[in-house]
Amino acid sequence: MTPSWPGPETRPFAVLGFPVRHSLSPAMHNAAFRALGLDACYLALAVAPPDLGPALAGARALGFGGLNVTVPHKEQALAVAAEVDPEAREIGAANTLVPCPGGWRAHNTDAEGLLRALAADLGFRAPGRRCLILGAGGAARAAAVALRRAGAKEILVANRNVARAQALAATLARVEAVDLAAAPGRLGPGDLVVSATPEGLDPKGRWPWPPSLLSAGTYAYDLAYRPGGETALALAAREAGLIAASGRSMLLHQGALAFTLWTGSPPPLDAMTQALAPPAEPPEADPQTR
Ligand code: NDP
Repeated sequence: MTPSWPGPETRPFAVLGFPVRHSLSPAMHNAAFRALGLDACYLALAVAPPDLGPALAGARALGFGGLNVTVPHKEQALAVAAEVDPEAREIGAANTLVPCPGGWRAHNTDAEGLLRALAADLGFRAPGRRCLILGAGGAARAAAVALRRAGAKEILVANRNVARAQALAATLARVEAVDLAAAPGRLGPGDLVVSATPEGLDPKGRWPWPPSLLSAGTYAYDLAYRPGGETALALAAREAGLIAASGRSMLLHQGALAFTLWTGSPPPLDAMTQALAPPAEPPEADPQTR
């Protein structure tokens, strides 16, 4: 980076979301660019849903080197992409866009990012295991695709809106919609509970799920993350003696995969991890988005 940064050659990147102001992605990717001495900058841009198409066309015309998209744009970004990676198509959502002839190529790095986070944080390996996913939105679908690909024996999905869980299961082989009340009895030692809902973010909040979900020997992972520390799920699971973590590591690994798609370079994981570290004095309340 030169003293005149940003300069005429500085390559812009961004995450588009609505809202997006609490995203940790700019800190993570700008740290990565700095670590590798790349003349680039990464912004968080609030884009209302009706403006996504023009925003993507504008970013392409302006020479953006790559984009992330987050809630609520993941499905629409896939629909308007010029090219779609097979895994993003299977998940039905994009989180990473790479410039291609005619527009953007849509990728989804959430699935592989989750698998890497589960291995790194929990030491969890999916082959032969039962996995219960709480939630049936885009992230739950990415989790189901990831765990299925990684060899999980059974994938159970439980959701507040039962019809949505059934719709998810209907489109993915080896994925079963289950009643949350019946789910704990299906899990045993070595199995995994994954939350793909924003519920349980408040570390002072009540544990929102049946306590029996956290039975001895299961692993627990919360895709949600708090800039200030752990989520209620991760804390409750650890108190119950489980190996548990929340979504900061998934944010890191999905971002690292996106970084390589954009730059062709191995990601500087140490710099990215440091940029995501919680502050020493956690604030009272800190809503999260990606
Ligand atoms: P969606 O809006 O697509 O889905 C949200 C899901 O959460 C739905 O199943 C919804 O149920 C459920 N839900 C919402 N509120 C509650 C509640 N109060 N009680 C029970 N269930 C609830 O969101 P995504 O799937 O995109 O994201 C889910 C979470 O995963 C978010 O917190 C997001 O930040 C996180 N995430 C983290 C990533 C990371 O890198 N760490 C990457 C991607 C996502 P219903 O269908 O009944 O409305």
